[in-house]
Amino acid sequence: MKIIDRIMKTCLICMNEHEILIVRVHESTVFKGITVEYDAVYEYCDDYNEFNSTEEMISLNDIAVKNAYRKAVGLLTSDEIKAIRSKYGISQFDLSTLLGWGAKTITRYEGHQVQDFAHDTILRKIDSDPQWFLILLETNKNKFLEATYQKYFSTALKLFGESYDLYRQIAVKARRAWFKSNKGYSGMKRKCARFRIIGQRPLNKQQI
Ligand SMILES: [Zn+2]
Repeated sequence: MKIIDRIMKTCLICMNEHEILIVRVHESTVFKGITVEYDAVYEYCDDYNEFNSTEEMISLNDIAVKNAYRKAVGLLTSDEIKAIRSKYGISQFDLSTLLGWGAKTITRYEGHQVQDFAHDTILRKIDSDPQWFLILLETNKNKFLEATYQKYFSTALKLFGESYDLYRQIAVKARRAWFKSNKGYSGMKRKCARFRIIGQRPLNKQQI
């Protein structure tokens, strides 16, 4: 147990006014069949040696359990989902709309509802692929106000520009892998060389 704050208020355990400790406690529980460890926050009454949870603490402790589970099974945590959305500067409602999900889906995923693996994969793709975000934005343009569309477009375009080197590296790698595994590589090369003849001076035998 670690003390993280002290506040003076009426204690709901002993019903006296005194200094209450706000403490962090490392706990474990079983969620969806998985044992998870997490940090919970409580009020602590020194006199009765008992813990109390405010409504806010109950909510935060529940999210801590869900996030511990998400980490254990390899899903994005609620904070990671929030970070993806913040990166694009898009609201919870609009990201749900962009992905064709229910209006409250992202709000729930940033809170108490654990996303399924299919939706998790889509969120990871949005995170790593601004080009895909731009395609989705274009497809769903009529669902946004012009100013909102422009705002999302310029942010995603900037992210796309920053990812350009990554896209290029992937393309080069994919091309190399294709050439490596394709026996027609040399034939393709000759064919391409022949196409070059059109509108150009003929290639000599060495070039072909
Ligand atoms: Zn007390």
